[in-house]
Amino acid sequence: MDKKEIISALVDRYNSDIILANDTVWEYAEPGMKEYKTAEFYRQFFEERDFNVEMGVGEVPTAFIASWGEGTPIVGFLGEYDALPTLSQEASCAVKKPVEEGGYGQGCGHNSLGAAAAGAALAYRDYLKENGLKGTVRFYGCPGEEYGSGKVFMARNGLFDDLDICLTWHPGKINRVSTTSSLACISAFYEFRGVSAHAAGNPHLGRSALDAVELMNVGVNYLREHIIPEARVHYAYVNAGGIAPNVVHDYAKVHYFVRAPKIKQAQEIFDRVMDIAEGAAKMTGTTVKRIFHEALCDYNPNRTLEKVMQQAFEEIGAPKFDQADFALAEAFRKTYTQADIADTKKTLEDYGMDPDLISEDDVLHTGVLPYVPLNKAMPGSTDVGDVSYCAPTAQINVVTEALGTPGHSWQVTAQSRSSIANKGNNTAAKVMALTAVMAVSDPELLKKAKEELIKSTGGKYECPIPADVKPTL
Ligand SMILES: [Zn+2]
Repeated sequence: MDKKEIISALVDRYNSDIILANDTVWEYAEPGMKEYKTAEFYRQFFEERDFNVEMGVGEVPTAFIASWGEGTPIVGFLGEYDALPTLSQEASCAVKKPVEEGGYGQGCGHNSLGAAAAGAALAYRDYLKENGLKGTVRFYGCPGEEYGSGKVFMARNGLFDDLDICLTWHPGKINRVSTTSSLACISAFYEFRGVSAHAAGNPHLGRSALDAVELMNVGVNYLREHIIPEARVHYAYVNAGGIAPNVVHDYAKVHYFVRAPKIKQAQEIFDRVMDIAEGAAKMTGTTVKRIFHEALCDYNPNRTLEKVMQQAFEEIGAPKFDQADFALAEAFRKTYTQADIADTKKTLEDYGMDPDLISEDDVLHTGVLPYVPLNKAMPGSTDVGDVSYCAPTAQINVVTEALGTPGHSWQVTAQSRSSIANKGNNTAAKVMALTAVMAVSDPELLKKAKEELIKSTGGKYECPIPADVKPTL
């Protein structure tokens, strides 16, 4: 048997475990940084399978590392598990039907993400064990991807620094190696304080915090023309000061996100936003306090490792769906708009690919897209970025849902516990485990991947979250 056949058999050995993890975490659907039942499930899961588990790493109670073996090479697999608010939905059900009205649901498929990564870690461990090879395998239990930046705190504590390689994936609509970057992001609250007064009787004695927030937002909207076009700045009123127009509001709070292709660019814009906030305070005779919330780096691709992952993906091939899977995907497709379905073409163009690689008539993507390295950041941010500054990192997307499925939707929740997801998870685990086997059997390649990392980062990771900012639990 060649490596591909061995790895396929090892992952298949754990297929029922992958389904168990997928379905259990789907059921728990816990909020980011509060995944207590999930973390406890994984602790038992890995201990029963002979791993050592360290809970509460990186200052977060629901973060953990499950490890096996000793010495080098050290291979890490990243697993996520947090859910999203308001996306509760019955499994495999193509009609909107929440399990719990307004409840949390796995609307980004992170239950699958963790389950398949766990399967890859188990299969890779068995490969080492059965071939008498030395090395360490780690599964990183990463909380709060959607909210909380769990991996950033883990990275700040140096938990990824000694990895030779780090592998992960994201469930989705297409099969490909991710070659694009993601946007760095910094988020903070701005709290303004003034003096309240009767708005008609003695407004001259009042100093309005609401005015300050409004002027800050106006200032930032003027800033937009003078920052790089790839940057994104969003805000939301957290507290507009009150509901009475006849009161001068002495308190108001606004929440900002600043995103840019590189963390340094985001930091520069973030500083300019603070200047504007201070200007607004000065104009209104109020004071402002910035409360740092969270931050994460852009994703730093490792081409050396990506190429191995592409080769592994092509060897394993796309998930093989049956008639029942296509019928289920077809049922979901009926809930999408034409614009949702046409969006796949745009995605392929964004990835520098021929948009006709996938037909609009397809309900499930059944091929593996070609390798197209791109120096481009896709909109959106992920804390995998910070890991990619610490260790050579590569990731894939694997089909777990119908083409046209909108991100963060009830349809994702429904399909994240389905026969489609089970097949996608199985493939994702195989590709990750095979990539690990191929990479560690080539010490030159590991060296090259490390050199590429050092060249792209200057050999150091600077955590974008200041040392005194603790995780939001
Ligand atoms: Zn996600």
